[in-house]
Amino acid sequence: MNYDVIVIGSGVVGSALAHSVAREGLSVAVLDAKSEPPNSYRHLSINKKSRQFLEQIEVWQNIKNIAFPYDQIKVWDQEGTGFIDFDATEAGLSNLGYIVREGDIQKALIDSFKKSDIQAFWDHSLEGINITDDRIICETNKESFEGKIIIGSDGVNSQVRNLSKISSRSWSYNQTAIVANFESSAKDNCIRQTFTSIGPLALLPMNSKEMTMIWSIDDEYAYKFLAMTDLEFTSEVKKYFGEHIEDLKLSSKRQNFPLHHLSAKTFAKNRVFLVGDSAHHIHPLAGLGLNAGIGDVDCLSELIKSNGLDQINKITSSYNRSRIPVNLGLAASMEAFKRGFGQKNIWVRLLRNSAFNIANELTPLKKKFMKLATEL
Ligand SMILES: Cc1cc2nc3c(=O)[nH]c(=O)nc-3n(C[C@H](O)[C@H](O)[C@H](O)COP(=O)(O)OP(=O)(O)OC[C@H]3O[C@@H](n4cnc5c(N)ncnc54)[C@H](O)[C@@H]3O)c2cc1C
Repeated sequence: MNYDVIVIGSGVVGSALAHSVAREGLSVAVLDAKSEPPNSYRHLSINKKSRQFLEQIEVWQNIKNIAFPYDQIKVWDQEGTGFIDFDATEAGLSNLGYIVREGDIQKALIDSFKKSDIQAFWDHSLEGINITDDRIICETNKESFEGKIIIGSDGVNSQVRNLSKISSRSWSYNQTAIVANFESSAKDNCIRQTFTSIGPLALLPMNSKEMTMIWSIDDEYAYKFLAMTDLEFTSEVKKYFGEHIEDLKLSSKRQNFPLHHLSAKTFAKNRVFLVGDSAHHIHPLAGLGLNAGIGDVDCLSELIKSNGLDQINKITSSYNRSRIPVNLGLAASMEAFKRGFGQKNIWVRLLRNSAFNIANELTPLKKKFMKLATEL
């Protein structure tokens, strides 16, 4: 089967790329190893730039009524006095972003495939890639596909990256993220994150009655927390959170995700383009991984649109030039946060508390942080 673009992986990133380039008239096939469309239960934060991109490709209209806006972020250090808060009104915005169920974005994108004539193939796992001068052939467990380019949007353990021999740097954060939802009578539109002695704990509002929790816990403690009963776990969340929270009741199973960093050495070569987690995977403490992936999609689809697929070398070099530095900068910031807050040393702790408080007083610096978080 012959297409202009073959997309491997139908997560939010791959589906958004497929939809975006199909709107430009290119023929697109999306292949996924899953036997049915993905429907993730995780709730994620979507920033202003991602929302604008989803609006531009006419998908946001099907999500906006189920997305929950947040207009404040409060971050504090549990082991000191450091505190910083971000307010949408300070940035002249109506909100700082939205909390959305990942499955709702996946559904809205996949539902739009028919409209843009995208062919989806479930239960198709990529097993081989052959590159000729002008085509690329993808072997799957079922049949083979031919295209002008291949998009690797197959997540952190990308086969596209491995089969096209793109090397990567990777290391463990030695933490596991425990994700769970809680019913609560606390009603505001604020994301709260505290740096506890065992890792960052965030509560994000999902709607007026529920919050989702992401707690990245040092591995030596994570398994103990996973083995607790619901009541024991809820009481630990309350204890570590520090600030008073209204009645919390666990309303979902606890999911867990081992956390590690990954950066591909190049994001594009020989008709192969990596987008999203296949190219870069970062700590979830700033809730920016998916937003960075949508940033890749925005950039790559714009390059394809303005150059056409005959100018592959130009698209390849421009894509690498724009996306590698942005994502390396982001990875370095996450690493600095993770290391700074993992320090038990009293001087480092004093320094980070002062830095937090100084940043909170400096409006220009806060504005810079907000710009990074909303416009990545
Ligand atoms: C706890 C946690 C919280 C997070 N919170 C946020 C947040 O608030 N905001 C944010 O922006 N980001 C957040 N992130 C990051 C975000 O979840 C990821 O960056 C994003 O989901 C990656 O999407 P993707 O489409 O690149 O990959 P994926 O969603 O992993 O999709 C990959 C797809 O490829 C398919 N696939 C894999 N291998 C093959 C193969 N060989 N052949 C065919 N198909 C294949 C899979 O079946 C899957 O459907 C969080 C991450 C974690 C762990």
